[in-house]
Amino acid sequence: MKPNFCYQVPVVVGSGISGATIAMMDSSVVVYDKGRSYGGRVSGKFGTEPFVYDFGATMFRDLMEVHWLGQETKYSLSEIWKTKSIEIQTKGIYDRDHFYPIKGMSDLVLTMLGKVKPFQGHTLNKLESSELETWNLEFHNSATKEIETVCSHSVVLTLPIPQILEIIDRSDKNSKLQRWANFLEPFNDYRKTLVSYFYWDSWKPNWKTFHLDPNSLIPITTSLHRGSDWEYQSWESLKYPNEFQEGSALLVQFGAIFSETHFENWMDSEKKPNPEYKEYLIQGLKEKFGAPEPNLIWTHRWKYAQAQMPLLGREGPLLLDSETFEEWKQLCKQTGITILGDWFFGAKIERIVGGIYFLSHNNLL
Ligand SMILES: Cc1cc2nc3c(=O)[nH]c(=O)nc-3n(C[C@H](O)[C@H](O)[C@H](O)COP(=O)(O)OP(=O)(O)OC[C@H]3O[C@@H](n4cnc5c(N)ncnc54)[C@H](O)[C@@H]3O)c2cc1C
Repeated sequence: MKPNFCYQVPVVVGSGISGATIAMMDSSVVVYDKGRSYGGRVSGKFGTEPFVYDFGATMFRDLMEVHWLGQETKYSLSEIWKTKSIEIQTKGIYDRDHFYPIKGMSDLVLTMLGKVKPFQGHTLNKLESSELETWNLEFHNSATKEIETVCSHSVVLTLPIPQILEIIDRSDKNSKLQRWANFLEPFNDYRKTLVSYFYWDSWKPNWKTFHLDPNSLIPITTSLHRGSDWEYQSWESLKYPNEFQEGSALLVQFGAIFSETHFENWMDSEKKPNPEYKEYLIQGLKEKFGAPEPNLIWTHRWKYAQAQMPLLGREGPLLLDSETFEEWKQLCKQTGITILGDWFFGAKIERIVGGIYFLSHNNLL
C-alpha cells in the first residue's frame, strides 16, 4: 500500500453522528464515508415531496449524564451546541426531554460537521501500519472506481463493529489490529431493523382514536409497542406538518424478531417491498388504522441497527470508572486507532454526542 497523500491530522471514518461530533470538537479532522450522503443511521429524505421523513433515528433526548472519578456530570445537548456556536432549530416531541430538528434529523449531522466536508462514496477496505508509526488507509472511491490510499498518525473508526472486524480481516496480519479485534468481539452484537414508510396524498387518520395529539403543546406523534411486529410508529407528517397539507405519512420500524425473520426477502433493488410483504403491509394498515392503500410504500433495511451490549451501558449514566474503559483508553493510545460509536456509548444520540463531548473536553480522546 503506497499512500497517495499523508495527513497531519486525524482521519475519521464514518460521517454519522459519531463522526460529526468528532468534527464539531476538532474541525481540523478529515472525514471519509462509504455512503452517498452523510448521516449514517441519522438519515432522512428531506426537501423532495412527498419524501419528507426520517428513516433512522426520529428524535433525540436532550439530557445525559456521565459518572467519572466519583463525579456526576449532567449534560444538555442544546447547551453543548451553544458552547460550540452551533444553531439547530428544534421542536419538542413526545415529552419534555425529547426533540427533533425542524429541518430533519440529518440536519443535526450536517450542522455539527460544520465546515468539515466529508469525502463521501469512499469505502475503507484495509488498514496497514507503516514503519513510521502511521497508518495507511486504503479506500475504494465509488465515483472513480479507483483505489485511494491515505496515511495518518491517528485514525478514528466510527463504523458498526461487524464492519470494522471485516476490515481487520481483510488487512494483513498485524498485532495492533489483532488486539482491537479481540477487544471488540464481546461487543459484536447488533439488532436488525426493517423499516417501511407509507405516504397517502389525501388520507389522514383520526388522531384521537390512536391516542395521538398533534395539537398539544408537546405533540404526541409516535407510539411504541415494544416486542410487537409493528413495534414503533412515527407519524412523520405530524413532525413536518408544512409539507403535508392534505395527506399523511407514517414510518414504521418493525420489531427485532420480525426484522430478523424477514430481513433477506424484504424488498427489491428499488426499495419497494417484495409482493408478499406489500400485501401484508396494506392489510396491516387497514386493520390497524382503517387506512386505504397508500400512494407510496418505501422500505429500508438496517443490518446493524443498534448495538445490543454497549461498553458504557444501554441506559442511565455513562459509567467511566471501569476496567474495560481503562483498557479501551490504553488500546487507543498504544495503537493510534480510536474506535467509537454506539457499541461504546449505547445507541442513543445524546449518549454519543454528550459522550464524545465529555471525552474530548477531558482529554480522554
Ligand atoms: C431505525 C433506527 C431508529 C433509531 N432511532 C433512534 C432515535 O429515535 N433516537 C436515538 O437517539 N437513536 C436512535 N437510533 C440509534 C442511532 O441512530 C445510532 O445509535 C447512531 O446514529 C449511530 O451513529 P454512529 O455515527 O455511531 O454510526 P452510523 O450512523 O452507523 O455511522 C457510521 C458511518 O460509517 C459508514 N461506513 C460503514 N462502513 C464503512 C466503510 N467500510 N468505509 C467508510 N465508511 C463506512 C456508514 O456509511 C455510516 O455513515 C436508531 C437507529 C436505527 C437504525
